[in-house]
Amino acid sequence: MTEPTRPLPNFEESDTAPFWEGTRDRQLRFQRCNDCDTVIFHPRRHCVGCLGHDLIWHDASGQGTVYSYSIVRQSYHPFFRQHVPYVVAWVDLDEGPRLLSNVVGIGDPSSDVHCGMAVRVEWEPHGDYAIPLFRPL
Ligand SMILES: [Zn+2]
Repeated sequence: MTEPTRPLPNFEESDTAPFWEGTRDRQLRFQRCNDCDTVIFHPRRHCVGCLGHDLIWHDASGQGTVYSYSIVRQSYHPFFRQHVPYVVAWVDLDEGPRLLSNVVGIGDPSSDVHCGMAVRVEWEPHGDYAIPLFRPL
């Protein structure tokens, strides 16, 4: 019997493919508008600030802080069910993007995670690609 696996994105979807390509080298990429300097995440074709299309890819350091989080205590999906209780968190990267991920490497989610906590990206490999997760510093 095989282990249940995390549901994965389409790594070749046109708007997000450069982001997923970066994960091959464990680079956490985000876009910034070359016209108005708005940070854009999740990846897309246009700027959410000015609707322009001159977007530049940047590599984030992988360090950030927990903006907010929730503890999942029940799941019906076979992969996630084996991880309850687990933390889903909005993480603010030092460079500005905010992304939704998991905080891993903790003991008790009820006491070991808090808003403002410093975290660093950690990669969960899936073939050549990887999913960015976060671990407390
Ligand atoms: Zn813009």
